[in-house]
Amino acid sequence: MNQPITGYHKDEENDWVARLRCGHFQHVRHYPPFINRPWVTTEAGRISMIGHQLKCKKCDLAEPRDFSLE
Ligand SMILES: [Zn+2]
Repeated sequence: MNQPITGYHKDEENDWVARLRCGHFQHVRHYPPFINRPWVTTEAGRISMIGHQLKCKKCDLAEPRDFSLE
């Protein structure tokens, strides 16, 4: 299921994690050449991707929310 990005935070390993509207977290790593998300490395890039839809596997698996929706 596709869900839009509503925000970000960093995890304990300093990797960026997107917050999705469904209440799930999803890592948005940039590890070239395997995972290429250069936009995540800059604040402007991250802001530009707010509202962009990511495929949420947690929704497909009906996993419980990672955070409560306000
Ligand atoms: Zn989800």
